[in-house]
Amino acid sequence: MKTIGIIGGMSFESTVEYYRIINELINKHLSGLHSAKMLIESYDFAEIEKYQSAGNWEKLTEILTASAKKLEKSGADYIAIATNTMHLIADEVQDSISIPLIHIASAAGNYIKEKNIDTVALLGTKYTMTKPFYKDKLKNEFGINVVIPDESEREIINKIIFNELCIGIIKESSYNELQKIINNCAKKGAKAVVLGCTELPNIIKEAEIEVIDTTKVHCEEIVKRILR
Ligand code: GLU
Repeated sequence: MKTIGIIGGMSFESTVEYYRIINELINKHLSGLHSAKMLIESYDFAEIEKYQSAGNWEKLTEILTASAKKLEKSGADYIAIATNTMHLIADEVQDSISIPLIHIASAAGNYIKEKNIDTVALLGTKYTMTKPFYKDKLKNEFGINVVIPDESEREIINKIIFNELCIGIIKESSYNELQKIINNCAKKGAKAVVLGCTELPNIIKEAEIEVIDTTKVHCEEIVKRILR
């Protein structure tokens, strides 16, 4: 088994899921007492969020590339960034190391393609929904059409993520709002919804259309690679 280096803590609510899912999958594959060889670099998310909202992606690139290098030096064979949003700088992180970065949107794109789904809704932080790094990758590399929620809906999703899900708060009212937004996206042609935020699966398990859990899909790809 190879070693995965996780860049996490964005937030800890989803990194804990990565830890659990990767270990459970490894144990399912190898049985007995087997578990994953994993290194985790976990941040204080308040510091990361401060740079995100200031639009200081250069500083974030500095922070994440330093971690990726550290994980490589410590023996990681692969790197994974345990958040969709920070894939905004995934190319820069990849360029700073000589081991492969397992990209969450590529894992999602492959999964959606295998399922023959042509149009998906993308729910995530405002960065993931509006900046090109995620939706353009799905469109250009996998030929998948992406439906983005309206501006007012994006505001609601972003607030739920940062004010609630990243600190473990699950509210029924937010669940209902998210389901309403997913239904609106379905009306606009989405056949499935990409939970493009690694905390969203903590509140949405199913919906009117198929749910694509990027945390799970990313973990499955990680396990496939470290067992290869
Ligand atoms: N974990 C979230 C994501 O998948 C949001 C936290 C962040 O901004 O990194 O995008």
